[in-house]
Amino acid sequence: MIRYKVEWIGEFKCDRQIGETDYTEKIITIKNGLDKATSFWTFFHELEHAISEELGLKMTERQVNGLEMGLAQAVEDNGW
Ligand SMILES: [Zn+2]
Repeated sequence: MIRYKVEWIGEFKCDRQIGETDYTEKIITIKNGLDKATSFWTFFHELEHAISEELGLKMTERQVNGLEMGLAQAVEDNGW
């Protein structure tokens, strides 16, 4: 089993960035202070990148965003 550590950071170098995945160090980094839903979906987005990398799926940014949006919509539509 491959484990990724999750870390929180005050600011990324680029101030619009809110998440990052380091495949070498196995670390997902999320920006501090986001609202709960944004934190969750940013984590989920980075997790998708990690899974794609580890399974060799070669998912594009567009595919990751599409899956994230589809799941978020399903969660919201079902009141979870
Ligand atoms: Zn991404």
